[in-house]
This record gives sequence, structure tokens and C-alpha cells, in this order.
Amino acid sequence: MSGAGGGGRLTSGRDPHTLEQRRRNMSAIRGRDTKPELIVRRGLHAAGLRYRLHGALPGKPDLIFPRRRAVVFVHGCFWHGHDCPMFKIPATKEDFWREKIARNQARDVTVQAQLQNSGWRVLTVWECALRGRAKLAPPLVIDTIRHWLDGREEIAVLAGDWTRVQSRAAVACQGSNLSRRS
Ligand code: ZN
Repeated sequence: MSGAGGGGRLTSGRDPHTLEQRRRNMSAIRGRDTKPELIVRRGLHAAGLRYRLHGALPGKPDLIFPRRRAVVFVHGCFWHGHDCPMFKIPATKEDFWREKIARNQARDVTVQAQLQNSGWRVLTVWECALRGRAKLAPPLVIDTIRHWLDGREEIAVLAGDWTRVQSRAAVACQGSNLSRRS
């Protein structure tokens, strides 16, 4: 009888559920198998596009299309420092985060150059295109990726529709002004 804690429902370090949760957290921290990436993978798979995962290429692209000589990265807006409202430096340890994100950004630039130099086309899909206020409709994301794969554009970026979010905010603001006047 362990009896430690007495509550019985408290999870201990050996509780499988806790371990599973921890594994998922670690996986999220490493940036593997995160939700945005799965959205892309599942969508492309459903659209009949086949790819390889995390091959031995610079930067370990999330999806690799060897025959098309194309790779897709799904980048978290925070970790890769996207210029969008989903990227905010935490107030604590600000310098630490600034340096860390700057290093990630520098590495992304290097990796993209290396891939281009060896004849790969590179598409970066930002997290904000897949989730959050500015996300695009999933079929639109998949269509856009498919068109890029079929096209010739060497470098492309797919991000959330922040213009739409801002114009909506403006409309909401006008609306509230009007209702206040009436
Ligand atoms: Zn973003």
C-alpha cells in the first residue's frame, strides 16, 4: 500500500497518463508532430499528395517531395519569430528569448540558402495560416500548397490572413460607434 498523498486521485510521476502528457509536451517543445504540421500532412495526404518526413536535408524539412525537388516547412510563429501578432517575446527572460529566436531565424535563412543551392524549392507555412484568428480555410491551405508544388516558384511563404483580421476589427469598431450614436 503506497498511501502517499492519501488523495488517491493525485497523479504521481509514474502515472501513465502523466507520462503520456509529458511526452506530448516534450514533443510540442521539440516542434515535432505539432498540430499545425498534422493539419498540413493530413490535408495533403487526403488530396493524394505523397511526401517523406524529416529526411536528411538541411534544417530537416517537415515534408519532402523528392520527385518535385520541393520541401515544406511548417514554422511556429513564436519559435521562428514570424512578423505577426502571434509572435510576442515573453516579458520574463526577454533577452534570453530574443537571442534564442534570433538564432532560430538566422538558422532558417542559412538552411533555406543551402537547400536552394542544392536545387530544392522551399515553401514555408506559418502556424498562423493554420490556427488562430488569422487562419485560412484548410482547403485553401492545401490548394495553395498544391499549386506551389505544381508551379515553379522557388521560394514561397504562406501566412495567416492578418489583413482580414485587422479590417474586421475596424468594422467592429465602426459598428460599436454607430450603435453608441443611435
Ligand atoms: Zn505568424
